[in-house]
Amino acid sequence: MLIVFIGPPGAGKGTQSKRLLTYLGIPHLSTGELLRGAKHQDSQVGRLAAQYMDHGRLVPDPLVLTMVGEKLERPEFQKGCLFDGFPRTLQQARSLDDSLQARGTPLDLVLELKADENELIARMLKRAAAEKRIDDNPQTIAQRMEVYKRQTAPLLDYYRQQGKLATIDAMGSSEEVFSRIKTTLDARRAG
Ligand code: ADP
Repeated sequence: MLIVFIGPPGAGKGTQSKRLLTYLGIPHLSTGELLRGAKHQDSQVGRLAAQYMDHGRLVPDPLVLTMVGEKLERPEFQKGCLFDGFPRTLQQARSLDDSLQARGTPLDLVLELKADENELIARMLKRAAAEKRIDDNPQTIAQRMEVYKRQTAPLLDYYRQQGKLATIDAMGSSEEVFSRIKTTLDARRAG
């Protein structure tokens, strides 16, 4: 199974992909986590990425694509993967399709997590207090919302045209959202 999670910041992509990971037993690949890891190690890549992340802008495609490409070659990613926060641009989506096609394992499903913008902002401000993420401040949150609408939302049409998009209502508790995801997934697997 190869699944992509798409959604605006705060929609719960990270939380839901971790839950799904336990349910399906396939590994999770979060570019946000990988980039935060690189930043934390203060590597050259991390320092470069931080210049974008800290302001709510997207890290350049070549950097992200190299990072993901290296991960995907690992044995644990051969049987499947849950992509969280990737792809985020059309170039990333096309490049992912190309590499998956080359290995004969196309994407199965793209889950869009959809929620009301005010709810998302409230969630992120709450998370800011708990996790102390440097990009969870009001100004950067607004910027990340704009970036989502401008650069990532076009992917919804891209995947809709491929017949792979399923939209999930991401309002409500994490349990409620997960149960909607399971229903969608089970229906796809059965059909
Ligand atoms: P959120 O969805 O809440 O913004 P993420 O952890 O997915 O959180 O991403 C945090 C930041 O990391 C983004 O604002 C962006 O700067 C960077 N980032 C993550 N994934 C990508 C990606 N696929 N392409 C470019 N930048 C990315």
